[in-house]
Amino acid sequence: MKPFAIENITRKSVLEMIPYSSARDEFNGFKSDLIFLDANENPFNNGLNRYPDSTQLRLKSEFARLRSVADDNILLGNGSDELLDLIFRAFCEPNIDSIISLPPTYGMYGVLSAVNAVKNWEVPLTNEFQPDVQSIISAIDSSTKVIFLCSPNNPTGNAFSAEKILKILTEFSGLVVIDEAYIDFSQQKSWIEKLAEFPNLIILQTMSKAFGMAGIRLGVLYANPSIIRILTKIKPPYNINTLTQQRALERLSDMAQIRFEIDQIIQNRNFITSELLKIPFVEKVYPSDANFVLIKVDDASFRYKQLIASGIVVRNRSHEIENCLRITVGTTDQNSNLIQTLKKL
Ligand SMILES: *Cc1c(COP(=O)(O)O)cnc(C)c1O
Repeated sequence: MKPFAIENITRKSVLEMIPYSSARDEFNGFKSDLIFLDANENPFNNGLNRYPDSTQLRLKSEFARLRSVADDNILLGNGSDELLDLIFRAFCEPNIDSIISLPPTYGMYGVLSAVNAVKNWEVPLTNEFQPDVQSIISAIDSSTKVIFLCSPNNPTGNAFSAEKILKILTEFSGLVVIDEAYIDFSQQKSWIEKLAEFPNLIILQTMSKAFGMAGIRLGVLYANPSIIRILTKIKPPYNINTLTQQRALERLSDMAQIRFEIDQIIQNRNFITSELLKIPFVEKVYPSDANFVLIKVDDASFRYKQLIASGIVVRNRSHEIENCLRITVGTTDQNSNLIQTLKKL
């Protein structure tokens, strides 16, 4: 197999296109002493009358500091969902290329492959919810552009074995995307520190889960600069709005609070795990490296409806994994309410 090279993996149309240059790009760094009559904005200042910083430099350098990478290792998106879509559009030729995903996993890989007319080869996880490395390697062919690994995985909650991920990274010379939406709840280390070693590695993180900011929509992609340059070329220039950039910076300025909340959630996860095991109709509580637990019950649809009738909404995953419910870890009060309710059913 040929070694990874950005020119070989990128769609020809993307390589050849000239990116949109926004008015504000051309004068980035020039500060407010200039008179800006270039972007057809309303001149009356209300705090938001100007377009946002399309390069998001301040925010990127905060993430760079937090994760010990350089600014040019980072791309920000309107949620990870936008970043996933950019990956498809930059690298996968519709009706020709394909991706590999490992169900049961996050639904967006399949949805985006359908939207972008890119074949999704599904290689199911093993019974232990680990990647089936041999089958993945057999499924790779000349059309395979991207392998999506979600670790810790949604909805199973477990992290993938580092050895298996490493094997996939070394055997495959297309892109390997590791979706680390739940990494801050995990014992496993982030793959960010392996970026220098693997030019084909893309890591996705988000402010939606551990960072408590699902409402602002901010996803963070880490990769080598050649990948970042291609994705930056096709991203909508103003994809991160001003309010999102402001609120993200505020939140990142209090990492102690974020770490405190993560600790609480992990403690509460361990608490509900042991309590759930005591419920007679709970047959299994899968070990979790995330902020949710997957449980197997006697009759998932029945228990799901019973819980809703008691005012508690969980996720019924039984179409993917037989009789399984996915339960997000809540506050101490919410969790004891859940456990009390389950005991009464
Ligand atoms: C929640 C989640 C995300 C986050 O998506 P955003 O668009 O950033 O909110 C990404 N990947 C997985 C696997 C998730 O479960």
